[in-house]
Amino acid sequence: MSTMAETTPDDPSLLVICVDSNPSQGILRRNPDALNSIINCVTAFGNAHLMHKPQNKLAVLSCHHNGSKFLYPSPEKSLEIRQMDGQYEFFTFVEKSIKFNLSELIKNAPKIVNNVESMLAGCLAMALCYIVRVKKAQPIGTNLISRILVVTGSEDSAHQYMTYMNVFFTAQKERVVLDICTLDNTLVLLQQGCDITGGHYLKVPQLDGLLQYLLWIFLPEPSIRSKLALPPAVKVDYRAACFCHRELIDIGFVCSVCLSIFCKFSPICTTCSTVFKVPVPIKPKKKKIKT
Ligand SMILES: [Zn+2]
Ligand SMILES: [Zn+2]
Repeated sequence: MSTMAETTPDDPSLLVICVDSNPSQGILRRNPDALNSIINCVTAFGNAHLMHKPQNKLAVLSCHHNGSKFLYPSPEKSLEIRQMDGQYEFFTFVEKSIKFNLSELIKNAPKIVNNVESMLAGCLAMALCYIVRVKKAQPIGTNLISRILVVTGSEDSAHQYMTYMNVFFTAQKERVVLDICTLDNTLVLLQQGCDITGGHYLKVPQLDGLLQYLLWIFLPEPSIRSKLALPPAVKVDYRAACFCHRELIDIGFVCSVCLSIFCKFSPICTTCSTVFKVPVPIKPKKKKIKT
């Protein structure tokens, strides 16, 4: 890809992991203990990324049913951590920050009765804002390679279609690669995001092997992935969701002013209020009969 061409092996790499901690996701409803092992895998993976190069950077965000929060770097600076024997202190700090902030998030989250979808699109937007902020703070001349990895067991959400599309195209413009690791469902919308930004999409066949899949597929930087034997890319379903019912459609009506998509014709665009003429069915012309 042309966007990767200017990077060198010495460039720092920023990895932002968005991990879904919403208790409504299928895998956590079936087995609530799975969150613990997912977080352990994500922490080990994040530390592996930091170990790769001394200049590498890491951020971990948790996406919950009521919002998203940074788990690392810690929003509260006053985290006291005791040194563990035999573990590099920086890795201990990353691990403890993630676990402490996640437990705070779960403790303070409102109880849910029905299933609520994860605010994944908002979490991705937060990750992008963070990347742009870190990029701006870099010394001039540094080329910061950045990517986002989503680890989720949630279903696709056509309700967040607009936010997703805004995030995908902003990521493409900012040269941020979006990788998706789905633990349970096929995610059509997020597949589109991977395809747009040049990332990798993987549906994990077995949750037990999560860390192995993460290390094998998502640890190598996007620029060197073409040299590795990775699973072939999936065929992307490029259907759009209509703005009226948020359902995926094959054929629809598009507003010629604001490009909103609708599954049925409506004389007034609900997004930009443009008024359209009701299409009149064309009658076949009567042939004049020569006498
Ligand atoms: Zn509709
Ligand atoms: Zn419109």
